[in-house]
Amino acid sequence: MKIIVQKYGGSSVADVEKIKNVAAKIEKKIKDNLKLVVVVSAMGKTTDNLIKLAKEITSDAVPREMDMLLTTGEQVSASLLAIALNDIGVTSKSLNAFQAEIMTTADFNQARIKKLKTVKIKKLLKEYDAIIITGFQGITEEGEITTLGRGGSDTSAVALAAALKAKCEIYSDVAGIYTTDPRLHPEAKKLKYITYDEMLEMSSLGAKVLHSRSVEIAKKFGITIYCGSTFSDEEGSYVMKKNIEQPVVSGLSVMDNQTQVTLSSLPLDYTLVQKIFEKVAKEGLNVDMISVISNSGLNISFTIIEEKKSHIEKAITQLLKDMKDFNVHFQSGYTKISIVGIGMKSSSGVASKYFNALEKIPLKLVTTSEIKISCLVEERYKEKAVKSLVEAFDL
Ligand code: ASP
Ligand code: MG
Repeated sequence: MKIIVQKYGGSSVADVEKIKNVAAKIEKKIKDNLKLVVVVSAMGKTTDNLIKLAKEITSDAVPREMDMLLTTGEQVSASLLAIALNDIGVTSKSLNAFQAEIMTTADFNQARIKKLKTVKIKKLLKEYDAIIITGFQGITEEGEITTLGRGGSDTSAVALAAALKAKCEIYSDVAGIYTTDPRLHPEAKKLKYITYDEMLEMSSLGAKVLHSRSVEIAKKFGITIYCGSTFSDEEGSYVMKKNIEQPVVSGLSVMDNQTQVTLSSLPLDYTLVQKIFEKVAKEGLNVDMISVISNSGLNISFTIIEEKKSHIEKAITQLLKDMKDFNVHFQSGYTKISIVGIGMKSSSGVASKYFNALEKIPLKLVTTSEIKISCLVEERYKEKAVKSLVEAFDL
């Protein structure tokens, strides 16, 4: 029995016609003598709309209830797809996370998959052509419903592929992974291959292609992820261990809504650095692009996503309540722009080319790793910066 795991994103199942189109694609594979495990996202903008509904009541909903709410979306698309398949004679059954036994931690809204039992799925595949599974959902030991974070269906799919030792194909409305967001830069080129590490940088840096966690799991279990379009037969991209083509810079990614937090005129006490980041971590907040400068006093600055501003502000004022004279300053409206490439490790002159390209743009912060360079710029410089970098690195 040869099994493939396929995942269809929200825009691929946005309406009934599209669901029928997916069913037809699945039928083709079944005719090739394959068994399918199909993971689906919620239809179109369903998840966003559900969030909107909750926000009409409060912006502070209990995370558990948000997961109860959001998981309904995937249940609708999974059952409709099973109905569509059965209708064309492809035997299928849909399962939610509880039925498929996708066990996760109890971190509502951002649960992590702990265990995935495949006995039941394998048994069902003997009876049915295709098993449809709700993406994005999990279940805790206590039987609580969780979600894996926005975009988490990718992770459901890759985890299932790893557990079933199957191929993993992820379908959406774009034909693969591009050097940069084609919506920002229509001439972006499609990559045939991209390594796990590059993809991880790209997705955590703001490329909305794959859920980061899905790439981590793929890397851990050596699963090649194929990303292709639901709507065309155009060859897509492969996320895998090695990039045969070895470009120096593979891609550029952009992350909007960045806020820079600057704490200035702090006393020259280095334990403060540790205390501040410990506090921030305890609050479950993510910080990025850190800089610590000491002269007569200590200046610490870091970036956060804009929506966490008030949360950070509260945490810091609470921590430093006994301290006078220091300043906290929040500056919103920044964009982080990064270039990523595994070839940077072994090639020199990348930084100089990068700064050359951005010569006329005021850079607020710059950070680097072995395979990326990121800078923070005011949003109004975004287009210009992207254009210059795309040209300089031939993306
Ligand atoms: N429906 C969820 C979301 O919109 C999960 C997913 O699409 O992967 O985030
Ligand atoms: Mg997605």
